Amino acid sequence: MTAYRCPGCDYVYDEAKGEPREGFPAGTLWSEVPEDWCCPDCAVREKIDFEKQE
Ligand SMILES: [Zn+2]
Repeated sequence: MTAYRCPGCDYVYDEAKGEPREGFPAGTLWSEVPEDWCCPDCAVREKIDFEKQE
């Protein structure tokens, strides 16, 4: 599983944890997150801005 970080506020979306408050259960892959999804913490950055964590 992979994690993706918001470049604006350092929020991290971890595929292993998902984001239940956004309606994504644990294990939801990044590819399953809608393209127009915004960062839930800053609401400024969108999915396309997120950076893959190595
Ligand atoms: Zn953010």
